[in-house]
Amino acid sequence: MNPTLSNAERERILKMARAARLERSAPKGSPIVPVERGGRLALSFAQQRLWFLEQLGEMGSTYHVPEQLRLRGALDRPALARALERIVARHESLRTVLLLVNGEPEQRILPVEESGFALVEHDLRGQPTAEAHAERLADREAEAPFDLERGPLVRARLVRLADDDHLLLVTMHHVVADGWSMGVFNRELSALYTAFSQGQPDPLPPLPVQYADFAAWQRQWAEGEVLDAQAAYWTQTLAGAPELLELPTDHPRPARQDHAGATLPVELSRELTAGLTALGHRHGTTLYMTLLAGWATVLARLSGQDDVLVGTPWANRTRPEVEELIGFFVNTLVLRVDLSVRPTLAGLLAQVKARALEGQRNQDIPFEQVVERLRPARSLAYSPLFQVMFAWEGAAGSGLALPGLSVAPAAAAPRVSAKFDLLLTLGENHGRITGDVEYATSLFERATVERWVGYLRRVLDEMVADDTQPVDRVELLPAQERARVLEEWSHVEAEVPADQCIHELFEAQAERTPGAVAVAFEDESLTYGELNARANRLAHHLRGLSVGPDARVAVCVERGPEMVIALLAILKAGGAYVPLDPAYPADRLRTMLEDSAPAALVTQSSLAGTFAGIDVPVVELDVPTWAEGPETNPAPVGLTPGHLAYIIYTSGSTGRPKGVMVEHRSLVNHTAWQAAAFAIGAGDTVLQRTSVSFDASVWELWTPLATGARMLLLSSDAAKDPEAMGRVMAEGGVTVAQFVPTLLQAMLGARPAGSALPCRILFCGGEPLPAALVQEARAAGAGEVVNLYGPTEATIDSTSHVCGVDGRAPAIGRPIANARVYVLDARGEPAPVGVAGELYVGGAGVARGYLGRAGLTAERFVPDPFAGDGARMYRTGDLGRWRADGTLEFLGRTDFQVKVRGFRIEPGEIEARLAEHASVREAVVVAREDTSGDRRLVAYVVGEAGAEVSAAELRAHLSGGMPEYMVPG
Ligand code: AMP
Ligand code: MG
Repeated sequence: MNPTLSNAERERILKMARAARLERSAPKGSPIVPVERGGRLALSFAQQRLWFLEQLGEMGSTYHVPEQLRLRGALDRPALARALERIVARHESLRTVLLLVNGEPEQRILPVEESGFALVEHDLRGQPTAEAHAERLADREAEAPFDLERGPLVRARLVRLADDDHLLLVTMHHVVADGWSMGVFNRELSALYTAFSQGQPDPLPPLPVQYADFAAWQRQWAEGEVLDAQAAYWTQTLAGAPELLELPTDHPRPARQDHAGATLPVELSRELTAGLTALGHRHGTTLYMTLLAGWATVLARLSGQDDVLVGTPWANRTRPEVEELIGFFVNTLVLRVDLSVRPTLAGLLAQVKARALEGQRNQDIPFEQVVERLRPARSLAYSPLFQVMFAWEGAAGSGLALPGLSVAPAAAAPRVSAKFDLLLTLGENHGRITGDVEYATSLFERATVERWVGYLRRVLDEMVADDTQPVDRVELLPAQERARVLEEWSHVEAEVPADQCIHELFEAQAERTPGAVAVAFEDESLTYGELNARANRLAHHLRGLSVGPDARVAVCVERGPEMVIALLAILKAGGAYVPLDPAYPADRLRTMLEDSAPAALVTQSSLAGTFAGIDVPVVELDVPTWAEGPETNPAPVGLTPGHLAYIIYTSGSTGRPKGVMVEHRSLVNHTAWQAAAFAIGAGDTVLQRTSVSFDASVWELWTPLATGARMLLLSSDAAKDPEAMGRVMAEGGVTVAQFVPTLLQAMLGARPAGSALPCRILFCGGEPLPAALVQEARAAGAGEVVNLYGPTEATIDSTSHVCGVDGRAPAIGRPIANARVYVLDARGEPAPVGVAGELYVGGAGVARGYLGRAGLTAERFVPDPFAGDGARMYRTGDLGRWRADGTLEFLGRTDFQVKVRGFRIEPGEIEARLAEHASVREAVVVAREDTSGDRRLVAYVVGEAGAEVSAAELRAHLSGGMPEYMVPG
């Protein structure tokens, strides 16, 4: 060795030499020898599997191997025809058919004269539509079915476009040829054509063995020790691998793989190709290995799986005897990439290299046998072991040199089949890496696959730029897509009334339309003027109890006009309301009351007993101590939009409900958005249906009151009765209403036949909205059905979507004005379009936090790194993804929180309460869905030793401390 080499260089060269040696591994097993032609000729393993697939009759052109070449120049057509015939004569494989004899498929080799092969010629010279005609011929040629039993399994057509312009279409069935075979075919065609066109004899040496000999040899060898060792390697390497690589599909996976496909070209720049080549030199990896590492990185990120299996075709011509044969030799290796070890890019390259070299050493065992031994769970919906393939191939037409002719691959006919979910084929062509991706069209849209190719490019760029990066840190999104999800899609800015609190919007409205009806309830109604006057009286009284900015005022009042007066008065006094539903158990109400430490409690004498003995000033609405106050708006007390408007409690996983503190600015933003987006105002009647203990009630109150609409307040009886709801809506002429899907379903179901829903806008939300329900509501007369999504912590709604009636699962839509919604991965970076991530909500709606829970607040309300300026965002625990059209899709939860009939429940809270019972040692609560899609809570309880307790007693125990909807049935 050159003594002037540095150690590093020497090491590098040694490494490359070692790698090169491994890649040309020595021939294995005993030599292949010709077998008797008279007897039964077995299929090779690969042929057998393909034969079996074809018997299913669903493969179409999936396993056709087409080569379509444009030949320009003077063509010797008889020489071409003879050359092709000679190739078919030389290779028994091209004269082979597969027959079922006594229930077993076998190969039959037809004599040359009976092969059925002939070059079919078309003369399109002088035809004005020759090009289009030729294209159709090419497509038809590639698609035309083969008959495996009768043959021929190779076809050729020559289309004459002009005297010096021809299209050669050759199609073989994969069962008799593979990628390597096409190289052999091209070399032989070159040699034979050259000889024949110069009047010389066939220059090719006879073939020592034929494909049938290989098949027989393989069968024999399959019994051997070597194969056992290889089988052991694969069973060990692939043990415990995931069954399915769960790529984010655009369409749900059909129960049966349909093999419908399309392809997309891939091209890497010269610079990137050069960079990858240099990277390979540094790490001793081939381009194949380097690209596979990049592809695996993309697949891992898209699927969220760190154990990725990729299939890869391997030439499988380890014996020199078969190197010059046309036939189906190619084998499939499965390479498993483990990213759970969190390698750097360099580490990943080393890993992929090791896997590829090991795989190569164990490549002789047919893939079919690996599958058989591993017995993976089989599904008709996807291929076993791997669903994504990576192939490294030479360019089409390579190796073909015909004297006097220029040869170029014809514009490839679009392939309409796909063997796998994705098949990436790349090769190096004149200093650039090019190829294509074949994808299953029943799973993916073209735009999606296009984006993914962009991710691959980006990852490869990163590999070249800095291979010391950890793989899971590599940025996937090209700058443009990152900007799209973070800027364009994540938020829409809009003007909202600055410096205003929600009740001030109402006050302005009361001044404009004092005589208009503000609240209608059964037979009563209040005008804007009356409501303002009465609320002012109570507000002045509350001021006297030192209610002011950020002071909490609990309110526990039956549904009716007084409830609205009380809520409004609290805001006018400068305080924040804490709604307590009188229907809740006393225990629960007292817990919330204590937790919120209010300055006052507004209630009614009939309910006051619940709060007997508490140390808080109580105002009883029906006791007229407050009725004498002035009717004018109270004077300002330094209240700003940054002060609290309300605190609403939601279920807490640790057993205690938590109070979400929402500020005026957030509520004003929501109101302004909703009023503008749906043109809500005078002329509308808005249904107030929801209990004030849920934040969905908040807009039902304030949007109408801030816009001059009429609020139709449902009585507590009607609010429990779907049938009454429908009736009141129809009679009251409700134009805007909101339902959780389960309740909407019930309401629609309970309506008398033929009655029409008067709503121009029907809001839905709180839980996934089924497409069928949208259609049902529209059919019942609803103008628009709008899916709203949002956690209480981000002020009622964060996204909104006007549902189409296309039967597609409704999206949750786009961020509402001034909200910011992100889909982030585990690193807190934006997830690619179509890829699931956690939903984070920033912007105007973000609540101040949880009352008195600094730790929990810090955990869930985090800095928003994309908005800057100290902005915060709420971590929802919801899973979602961006659709390609910039709308969001809801996908579920990252935790145990559930929605049952729209009620948000932390099972942990119920479990904690159950465990407080003396007879309970441990409890687990889950939500169960029955066949009709109805959800209910189920509790599993382990009793203390010797203790006996009935389900009824446990239910009673729970009912004492939590609302009815939290008590398992
Ligand atoms: P809440 O705080 O009661 O409004 O509940 C918020 C939670 O309800 C969200 O975090 C989601 O899990 C769920 N949710 C709200 N709206 C929707 C919707 N439109 N589709 C699916 N889930 C929803
Ligand atoms: Mg909500």
